[in-house]
Amino acid sequence: MNIQIKIQITDLGGVTHECNIAEFDKGFGCVAEIGLSIEDSKGLLLNLQQEIVAAQAQAFCEAHSTCSCCGRRLRRKGSKSVQYRTVFGDIPVDSPRFYHCACQPHTAQTFSPLTALLPGHVAPEMLWLETKWASLVSFGVTVDLLKDVLPIGKQLNAETVRRHLGRVAERMESELADEQYNFIQTTAFEREKLPNPAGPITVGIDGGYVRSREKGQSHFEVTVGKSIPADRPDRYLGLVQSHDEKPKRRLHEVLKDQGWQENQQITFMTDGGDSVINMARDMAPAFEHILDWFHITMRITVMHQYIKGLAHHNLAEAEQLARILRQIKAYLWNGNLHDGQIAIDDLVMDLDEVETDYASIKALRKAATEFQTYISNSAWMIPNYAERRRYGERVSTGFVESTVNTVVGKRFCKRQQMRWSKIGAHLMLQTRTRTLDGTLRGKFEQWYPGMKSASPVKLAA
Ligand SMILES: [Zn+2]
Repeated sequence: MNIQIKIQITDLGGVTHECNIAEFDKGFGCVAEIGLSIEDSKGLLLNLQQEIVAAQAQAFCEAHSTCSCCGRRLRRKGSKSVQYRTVFGDIPVDSPRFYHCACQPHTAQTFSPLTALLPGHVAPEMLWLETKWASLVSFGVTVDLLKDVLPIGKQLNAETVRRHLGRVAERMESELADEQYNFIQTTAFEREKLPNPAGPITVGIDGGYVRSREKGQSHFEVTVGKSIPADRPDRYLGLVQSHDEKPKRRLHEVLKDQGWQENQQITFMTDGGDSVINMARDMAPAFEHILDWFHITMRITVMHQYIKGLAHHNLAEAEQLARILRQIKAYLWNGNLHDGQIAIDDLVMDLDEVETDYASIKALRKAATEFQTYISNSAWMIPNYAERRRYGERVSTGFVESTVNTVVGKRFCKRQQMRWSKIGAHLMLQTRTRTLDGTLRGKFEQWYPGMKSASPVKLAA
């Protein structure tokens, strides 16, 4: 059978223009012939887009073809064709050039109205779609995916997508105000008068590593965080510490977006590293730092694994060490630092005295002395975890580890050969965190209010 698709466009003056969009001959003898194929839909959407954009561009140029001051018709100085890159194809648009009216002084002699309408010649929704997918999968896969389902222009390639994502991330970066040492703006007296805040906000901050493409460096550290208010959606943040000059501002803006007010408590859960502690310092009047229980158990688990190995060589000693390790865990869980640190000292001393042919004894000794230092440096951040748990408070953000994996893992490390520059990784983190917490689209709608779908499409009866 033959299928023809026609459209009608009625302009503001009430003139209706009709045109053919597509015509297919379709069979109906086998399953693959039923309905539109992807190729049919691509042709259809491309032609439709062409007609719509042409009509809109023409109407816009028409509206700008008279002087805005005296109303006189402007003299036309030829036109050229520009490519407008949209989700539904690269659309050639006729862009006329006009002489400015002589009634007002102008710096240039001529102008093209479409330059104001289509800056950059890329549709905002195209930028959004490219940025979103490239934040999740590689640039190359993004191109393949978009070309599979949409009549995207043939010349779209991984490099273009990378450039567009960079442009979007840089725009977000340019909106970030200056760094400050301290973000507290209210006095204690003013805070007294603030309305009662919602529940506390827990902020987990942790680091991960990304393979570096920079000379003389195999990896560099990225910092990721997740802010979890009791009653609002979570937000992610990410940055490359050695590149970023505004880590505190970044965190502050996320908290502000989440409606944080200065009389609201923030609990920071970290691994106790200096850089994350500094980032959280002076961030809020009411805050606490807690060493994430996850980091304690992770280190204990590592030592426990070694002790299991030692048991094959020195069973009695291994059993004794395992007993001390269990004690250490119990003391720390109950916030009993005094006895916990004595037990850790015992563990280190006992390990020094073990005579064994166990190959990993050195690694075990090292893990134990590192743990000793770790606990003594982080002592001020160790609460009574057991008590917190009893009160239903968080003791761990096991979520932090998964945040690092979510934010950094798939896009940055999965393909081992993938290497990053610091700036590239930092920009990617900006679009990736917004993609993951679902705020990327909102950012675009703030930039381009026309992207909000105000009126739903009316279906023909
Ligand atoms: Zn004029």
